[in-house]
Amino acid sequence: MTETHQPGAGLRSRSWPTPPPPRSPPRPTDRAERPVYVIGGGPGGLAVAYALRARGIRAVVLERSDRVGDSWRRHYDRLRLHTTRRLSALPGLPMPRRFGRWVARDDVVRYLEKYAEHHRLEIVTGVEVSRVERAPDGTGWLLHATGGRELTGAAVVVATGFNHTPRIPDWPGRDAYTGEFLHACAYRNAKPFAGRDVLVVGVGNTGAEIAVDLVEGGASRVRLAVRTPPHIVRRSTAGWPAQYSGLLVRRLPAGLVDRLSRAQARVALPDLSAQGLPLPGTGLYSRVKEGAIPVQDVGLIDAVRTGAVEIVAAVEGFEDGAVVLADGERVRPDAVIAATGYVRGLEGLVGGLGVLDDRGRPVVHGARTPDNAPGLYFTGFTTPISGNLRELALDARRIARAVSRSGTGGVSRLPG
Ligand SMILES: Cc1cc2nc3c(=O)[nH]c(=O)nc-3n(C[C@H](O)[C@H](O)[C@H](O)COP(=O)(O)OP(=O)(O)OC[C@H]3O[C@@H](n4cnc5c(N)ncnc54)[C@H](O)[C@@H]3O)c2cc1C
Repeated sequence: MTETHQPGAGLRSRSWPTPPPPRSPPRPTDRAERPVYVIGGGPGGLAVAYALRARGIRAVVLERSDRVGDSWRRHYDRLRLHTTRRLSALPGLPMPRRFGRWVARDDVVRYLEKYAEHHRLEIVTGVEVSRVERAPDGTGWLLHATGGRELTGAAVVVATGFNHTPRIPDWPGRDAYTGEFLHACAYRNAKPFAGRDVLVVGVGNTGAEIAVDLVEGGASRVRLAVRTPPHIVRRSTAGWPAQYSGLLVRRLPAGLVDRLSRAQARVALPDLSAQGLPLPGTGLYSRVKEGAIPVQDVGLIDAVRTGAVEIVAAVEGFEDGAVVLADGERVRPDAVIAATGYVRGLEGLVGGLGVLDDRGRPVVHGARTPDNAPGLYFTGFTTPISGNLRELALDARRIARAVSRSGTGGVSRLPG
């Protein structure tokens, strides 16, 4: 097996707490000592591995890339968390105050490296799990991984990420389009687009932020193609973060939250109907429940109000070197950036087990395991209004408790 990776070695700072003394994980010798395998070394996987370990359960993280936090390393340069530092930390290690309230991308990566090092997590990098199936002896799970490896775990936690595989709609004419075209996952910064005419497609948080980044980075023209107008919220109002409001209302009925947020939007936000961004017909919390979290304003409102970002109709297809919009307009930008989201990509991994719904999402998450697949856990596949990292942290503890209580397949106990 690939060597165990020591992420972040060499990172030292007085702001980090002292790590606990080293403990040597036992070697699995028989079925009773099979580890819990955690697939994915992002925040979700690392948090679960820590929470399991804190309960004395051996957890091995399998990460396909060569370092932890791979998704965060790939995000665009200007990205900061839109959830607060305090409510974005994983269990067992706060984020240092010097990271500020809205933590920058590089500091998130630094934190994840430090997290793995601090908790001495057992992480194997360069191993991609391609399929999970029941172990032939009926107790536990068999993982098929890179290089023909077969690993048997007492339980498995799937933490491969909500934003797993870039999604590009099946637009007619896209294959024949020869203009510059990229998915938002390949966007780093505005430099390559300075002085150019860019069409951003999709107004989720990513599309909204890339459009603003392009304006600030000197693109000559920025259009934003919108199919469904989003709910937009200010990241914070008079020092009160939107995430706190999300936390307060998350257990209220969706209809009530929809009405409250509509009233608040009318007071706090300018009317952008004339610019093409009216208040959406469906309420904010109802949209969240459908999986569409609101757009946090990091400059879009002003950019649209001043015309720096032009809202245009949704993209319908590509024809003769032009982009065809839903209202019949044809535009010829220098570059098209598709901020059209991601899919979970779980079909290959667990598709044969009957644990996915018709949208390809796990039928359970957190501490619950599917009735037909005990010992198989999922984390990170929901879009909570209270913040994803916060939910990952909570799920980690819930999963560890559930694994511990179930004693699934018998898990080895660490000393101390
Ligand atoms: C642009 C952006 C900004 C965000 N900002 C915030 C924010 O401010 N606050 C917040 O709470 N949330 C935010 N999120 C949402 C969420 O918190 C992050 O996406 C977070 O990284 C999710 O963690 P994860 O561990 O579930 O998935 P990921 O971070 O995506 O980690 C999954 C890991 O699994 C690995 N992997 C995938 N498949 C396999 C496989 N088959 N075998 C082995 N390894 C595999 C990947 O390489 C990756 O390292 C943001 C998301 C995006 C896209």
